[in-house]
Amino acid sequence: MLFSWEEVHWVLLDLDGTLLDKHFDDYFWETLVPEEFARRHGLSAAAARHEVFARYQRQEGTLNWTDIDFWSEELGLDIPALKESIRHLIEVHPEVEEFLQFLRGLGKKVVLVTNAHWRVLNLKMEQTGLVGYFDQVVSSFDLGAPKEELACWQVLQQRIAFQPEHTLLVDDNAEVLAAARRYGIRYLFFKGMSSSQLAPGGHPDFPVLMNFRELM
Ligand SMILES: [Mg+2]
Repeated sequence: MLFSWEEVHWVLLDLDGTLLDKHFDDYFWETLVPEEFARRHGLSAAAARHEVFARYQRQEGTLNWTDIDFWSEELGLDIPALKESIRHLIEVHPEVEEFLQFLRGLGKKVVLVTNAHWRVLNLKMEQTGLVGYFDQVVSSFDLGAPKEELACWQVLQQRIAFQPEHTLLVDDNAEVLAAARRYGIRYLFFKGMSSSQLAPGGHPDFPVLMNFRELM
């Protein structure tokens, strides 16, 4: 292990891909939404997929990316209702509850920090029952900037007064980790195993965590 838990007072955790199986979101955005878009607008599957993916690409790294109201409007679909229709597919990564209990046992401050929109966040908290493990749950929609931007961490620190040099962050998005590093967050881990349906990934710039047991 690359650090001592005594040095860590705050643990900031991403939600999708980090605590939850990203397969839910991948299936939703890459399969279900293009299918519904094709049906709604009378397009072929291939044409719908092409159009929808082009629209996604234009919003990458912005708050619109995870803003379901934006996407309902942009695509002419009821995104919340569609999410609700597949809520049974929301899964927590297998070792996550054990890790959250471990953190509780150590008395760490545990904060969920996600780019997820509040409505999706609420659905996922309801479905998984994880909410009781966190001292705070923060959506970047409340901070005014996505986690890929320095501003997000500045506003978060004003809100929850964490000390970056005593903080550990796990995220499956390297751009988020890079912004957190620029802000001075000291212990950064890239979650390499984000989806049960994809091969695990690595990253050259950050220590890679496949399973939370590696931190326990
Ligand atoms: Mg994530």
